[in-house]
Amino acid sequence: MQDVGESELVARIEAVLPPYVRAVCTRLADAGHQAVAVGGAVRDAILGREPGDWDVATSAPPEEVMELFPRSIPTGLQHGTVTVVDRSTRAPINVEVTTFRGEGAYTDSRRPDHVRFGVPLVEDLARRDLRVNAMAYDPARRELVDPYAGLADLRDGQLRAVGPTGDVYEDAVARFTEDGLRVMRAVRFAAVLEVPLHPDTVRGIVPALPSLAKVSRERVSDELRKLLATRQPSRGLRDAHATGIIASIIPALAARLAGRVEPWLTRVDAAPSEARLAAFAFDLVAPSKTPERVDRAGQKQVEGILRALKFTNEELARAAIVAATAGATSVSAWTDAGVRRLLADVTRSHALIAAAVWRADGATALADRAAAILERGDALALGELAVTGSELMAALALPPGPQVGKLLAGLLDRVLADADLNVRATLIALAAELAR
Ligand code: ATP
Ligand code: MG
Repeated sequence: MQDVGESELVARIEAVLPPYVRAVCTRLADAGHQAVAVGGAVRDAILGREPGDWDVATSAPPEEVMELFPRSIPTGLQHGTVTVVDRSTRAPINVEVTTFRGEGAYTDSRRPDHVRFGVPLVEDLARRDLRVNAMAYDPARRELVDPYAGLADLRDGQLRAVGPTGDVYEDAVARFTEDGLRVMRAVRFAAVLEVPLHPDTVRGIVPALPSLAKVSRERVSDELRKLLATRQPSRGLRDAHATGIIASIIPALAARLAGRVEPWLTRVDAAPSEARLAAFAFDLVAPSKTPERVDRAGQKQVEGILRALKFTNEELARAAIVAATAGATSVSAWTDAGVRRLLADVTRSHALIAAAVWRADGATALADRAAAILERGDALALGELAVTGSELMAALALPPGPQVGKLLAGLLDRVLADADLNVRATLIALAAELAR
């Protein structure tokens, strides 16, 4: 981030602060409370990135927030969070308003044992994760509140954990141990913001890994999904691997990555967003001896790993079948017939993603051949043959039964070997031969 003055920063935030957020803060301020926009949206506004959800933090206790905004919903009263609903816009907008709070110890590495209201804003900011996420904007005073030098981290290009000691390593260990998810947030923000973690922040991840093991798998995969959706996931994945985050969440992947980290990072970065999880999981499957086939055992293994991490069935099915073609990219002598057989096994619905991962893996010849086959529309499945089962039965006077299915499978085999055979008359003649 360029060195810009305080007034320029205020102007940047003012330019994107939504009117409903300002209105919520103003009403709270008029009632005598402090109310600020806080966290990620302030950080993003400063960076000139499109802010996601705007969060408001206030000195007003939750009951008073409820009174001031009759349409509010008590979404998390025990944490001091009230959702204020603004119906003045066509699509109603929700703003989470959370009372300033301090936190007790985290004995379970997931959530604080108790929260305390009635603390000043600086204390509320101190319980957050990274310094860049511990900034606030006070619209009433037109003032950026940055007691932990989050701005300096953006300027100096080094992310650090917020904390009272000022020792980068100690603060990191303390924040990351309290809530194990924070180590994943740290590497995710390094990739999202394209600002590297301070070396002592990276070191601080290691002692906190036992906390990560206690975090729900849904939260872990949510973070991984967000990391994989960034422009260059390697900006976070490299540290995630080096510190042992990957070994903590997917031990089998870390074991397979030994000596192969750079190709893994390059492949993930090069893959389009919808192919990222597959590119990430690709190393899980050892190259098989039959590269023209999906490795079904490998596919099952990847499905199991991603299911345990609570990825959706759709996500894990796609990533697993593609990862189970990992053996294909180390073969260089491909024929169209071989690639068609592989694509048929992958199935058409996953074929484009598979080809994208092959390309990202540097298997250009394979990816080019696959792209040409898909573009030509060569048949890859029984339903894509130029003849149907009932047409075969009529032409060859066959009774219904398993023989028809076998004939179709035999025809597909021939058509995968030679796509020019996929013409109705040719296929009927071929079937007559096969039926003999
Ligand atoms: P994004 O919305 O882009 O994922 P964000 O920083 O806004 O990023 P949110 O999950 O929306 O993240 O949280 C809003 C703010 O709450 C954060 O900026 C941070 O200050 C705080 N926060 C969120 N999750 C944690 C956490 N696990 N530990 C500490 N602070 C957190
Ligand atoms: Mg957010």
